[in-house]
Amino acid sequence: MTPSAPSLIQPTKSRVVAKDLRALLGVEKVLDDGPALTAYAVDASIYRVPPQAVVLVESEDDIAATVSYAVSRGIPLTPRAAGTNLTGSAIGSGIILDVSRMNRILEVNRKERWARVQPGIVLAELNKQLSAQGLLFGPDPSSGDMCKLGGMIANNSSGPHTLRYGSVKDNIQSLRLCLTSSSWIEARSYALNDPMLERLLTSVPALRDVLVLTQAHADLIAAKQPTVSKNSCGYNLFAVADGLAQGHFDLPKLFVGSEGTLGIVSEAKIMLAAKPAATLTALIHFQTLEEIGSAVPRLLTLHPSALEVMDANTLNLIGRGNHGIPDDAAATLLVELDADSLDVDLREKADAMVAICRSYKLASELTLAFDASQREQLWKARKALYPTLYRFDAKKKPINFVDDVVVPAERISELIRYLEEFFGGQQVPVAIFGHIGNGNAHIVPLLDVNDTGDFQKMVQAYQEIHATVLNRFGGSICGEHGDGRIRAGFVKTMFGEELYDLFVQVKKAFDPGNILNPGIKLSEAPFTDHIDYTRLSKSCATCAKCNSVCPVYDVFQSEDMSARGWFEIVTAKDYSYLDSKRVIESCLNCKSCRTICPAGVDVSDLILQKRAEHPNRLTGWIFKRQAHGAAFEALLRFLGSTQHIWDRPLIRKLLDRITAPFMKALAPTARLPHDLVLPKLAQRHLRERHGHLIPNGTDSSPSKTVAYFHGCAANYFDDGVGDAVIEVLKKHGVDPALPPQRCSGTPIQTYGHVDLAREGAWFNLRSLAPYETIVTGCASCTLMLKDYPTLFQDGEERQQAEALAKKVVHISEFVARSAERPPMAKTHRTTKRVTYHSSCHLRAAGVTKEPRQVLSSMPGVNFVEMQDADRCAGGAGTYIVKDYNTSQKIFDRKARAIMQTGANVVATSCPACMIQLKNGLGDSVQVKHVAELLQDAYRAAEREKN
Ligand SMILES: Cc1cc2nc3c(=O)[nH]c(=O)nc-3n(C[C@H](O)[C@H](O)[C@H](O)COP(=O)(O)OP(=O)(O)OC[C@H]3O[C@@H](n4cnc5c(N)ncnc54)[C@H](O)[C@@H]3O)c2cc1C
Ligand code: SF4
Ligand code: SF4
Repeated sequence: MTPSAPSLIQPTKSRVVAKDLRALLGVEKVLDDGPALTAYAVDASIYRVPPQAVVLVESEDDIAATVSYAVSRGIPLTPRAAGTNLTGSAIGSGIILDVSRMNRILEVNRKERWARVQPGIVLAELNKQLSAQGLLFGPDPSSGDMCKLGGMIANNSSGPHTLRYGSVKDNIQSLRLCLTSSSWIEARSYALNDPMLERLLTSVPALRDVLVLTQAHADLIAAKQPTVSKNSCGYNLFAVADGLAQGHFDLPKLFVGSEGTLGIVSEAKIMLAAKPAATLTALIHFQTLEEIGSAVPRLLTLHPSALEVMDANTLNLIGRGNHGIPDDAAATLLVELDADSLDVDLREKADAMVAICRSYKLASELTLAFDASQREQLWKARKALYPTLYRFDAKKKPINFVDDVVVPAERISELIRYLEEFFGGQQVPVAIFGHIGNGNAHIVPLLDVNDTGDFQKMVQAYQEIHATVLNRFGGSICGEHGDGRIRAGFVKTMFGEELYDLFVQVKKAFDPGNILNPGIKLSEAPFTDHIDYTRLSKSCATCAKCNSVCPVYDVFQSEDMSARGWFEIVTAKDYSYLDSKRVIESCLNCKSCRTICPAGVDVSDLILQKRAEHPNRLTGWIFKRQAHGAAFEALLRFLGSTQHIWDRPLIRKLLDRITAPFMKALAPTARLPHDLVLPKLAQRHLRERHGHLIPNGTDSSPSKTVAYFHGCAANYFDDGVGDAVIEVLKKHGVDPALPPQRCSGTPIQTYGHVDLAREGAWFNLRSLAPYETIVTGCASCTLMLKDYPTLFQDGEERQQAEALAKKVVHISEFVARSAERPPMAKTHRTTKRVTYHSSCHLRAAGVTKEPRQVLSSMPGVNFVEMQDADRCAGGAGTYIVKDYNTSQKIFDRKARAIMQTGANVVATSCPACMIQLKNGLGDSVQVKHVAELLQDAYRAAEREKN
């Protein structure tokens, strides 16, 4: 009789677990409040399982203490990294052990090409850092911007470039693991006659059990080994048996792909590859699917590093128009070729590829990209494919349950045809894409699982497709995503009872109490258990792409302090502001999540809506005074004229204390730290300095066509930005008007005052309506003015807001598009090395290239791109005061990136970011607005002329 998979220990629901863990690890590392448990109840799968407690481990001691506690109390323990798996393997009903804070690169050996890393490091971060040394870690899941090494190892992940680099299992030298027996092992490949192996087998009997059972059942294991090029289903006894036959016990092969069910990885020694010297990416649109089947083997002769396919349905679903895909393309191939040295001529290879493709009916010419940013564009749609499908329909969502099959590569067209017929019969839209070079297809049907009919179709498709892949194609049900909860129930069908029995014995040897990730990989439970029906009718794909750019997540490395977690928290049925205030008030409203989300979700807006239910009283009082009172401006002028007195170190220390209770009304974390470098307040505001540009109050049709919307900062601060914008405009032949204006509304909305924001917007709409172009100098004002339509449901206001949005241009856009080319200085005494910090709100407004274009075109400027240019600097309006500590932690990363460039000037497009940059950088690097640098260049030209 086949023993069944170990049963799940059901823990008693109680807060004792978190209390005990706090006593063991300290309060900072343990979470069990409602919002945290809500955020940790999901990963990128279709499931939801709320845990009892979350531990944010920071060291091996933390891991050991948590494992030992869970074992002693019989509580399930689920390791978790980024939570991007698609199978439900990073959620569990007991303790979640989040390794995200263990995210360091411990050592890099460039010569021998290996690195020691911790499991919490994000793949993209790792490769960014290795890139400086000309190295990379090869396996590249499409989730590489967010997934972490621990999860990749546990899932044996791979990706488009498996053809060149293999899966994770091919790239690991050794692992450090904590077992449930409380032992730590170094899992590497040991020669069978190595005395160290004997000592290890004696101290860890589970290892001897596995060795013995693998040797004893070598024939069975060999007979059941999948013959396709990739497999991550079941435990990899196949590689262990192969190793034993060759005289070594290859432990990494056993643990890689074990999905956190055998031990917890605290460190990995990974193998690195040399970065290719050059790369070519090609997009090829085929008119018939069948021809792809014949083209693939021919393209493989060119030794591509990646060969990806998207079928016709996928192209329809992601929107052909958005990606320039011809209407008659039946399938699209993405091919990548690498050159190991600059001697290899990729153009010759491109010619060979074109020659191969010429024999097929193509829907258009091949698109060839050699340049990094063009290549990135070609990959963009492919990498964000799954979450992008969330945009397709409000109810029918892409459901991952047959998402990872592998068949022989040469039969992939046959598989796609079969799947199209199958889903056509079910009348279910489906996206089929994947790593065609490996025969690994990702199949994502769009279903409304809350509809009984669709639910039944899902169950039928699960059984039939998996069975067909096994019986007709001789394939595997899992290439790289892992078995998780989804495929656990089908592992026995895939391998048969005898081999399944061996898997169960392996699990029992390491984890007799079934503590580690129960229900994952081996289970008798139906795959429909724990489906999150509520979430699957929401707009978020839980892909975690937003977490990869969320500055708060970057600092806390905790799901309850992240964009994805906040989506879960604010849309939860039992959401309450009071319970969630801690997290809801932590968002910077930087909008980075909105800019990046492939599914079109705006988490920042959801948070603002919740804040609007509880507007902050103190700021409401201030904003009202600002909107209506000359007294407000008079006070600012007074503060400006006395700043030389009150802005001294001693007085600032006093002010820090005196203002403390007042600041608490802003937020519990708010402070006015004495060492914060405040911007200089203007004694004469911009509008007073340029009074002649203010239109006559009675003039309803002004002669000027361009208005400058300066916003609050440029008006009240003596930061030079407003004057520079006006001067630059004049150089470009424009005499701008300064029509009456109120705060654009960004800070007002951030503190929950939607009505006030709307009132100000309406004022601005009327004031700006007569002008053809509205120039801005502030990133936040640019975005807010463009976003005004979201403040008004319909009616005249909405129409005016839409009209205004089209007229708004940031000064850098204005200059980049201007036909005028005012002279700039030809000679410069010193060349400035300038880097650019791209303000989040300007990115959200879609302005990214123009500031860089402007800077690069300036004589005497050596423009250097900064690695983290697109990451938030942590200023975000008043956030620097609202939560100074977090704001500074966010800035640390930006400061490192700026220093790495060696720049002596950092340019930006936003006065608010300038405050943060000036405060954080001190005198080490000059901070300038793009308009100020232009102003300098034009003035220098004037001086040269004279
Ligand atoms: C949009 C999108 C695209 C994707 N594309 C690909 C792709 O191209 N190829 C691919 O292979 N996958 C892909 N995936 C799936 C997923 O991203 C990968 O499996 C990824 O490697 C998981 O990493 P993670 O950090 O998110 O791990 P998690 O989801 O947190 O965890 C995954 C597993 O690892 C275990 N685990 C985590 N840390 C440890 C540890 N320290 N010790 C032991 N066990 C641990 C967990 O218990 C769980 O079983 C994609 C996912 C998404 C959302
Ligand atoms: S909000 Fe968007 S980016 Fe974030 S998890 Fe949801 S779908 Fe992904
Ligand atoms: S707006 Fe910024 S801080 Fe807020 S959730 Fe989005 S990315 Fe995070």
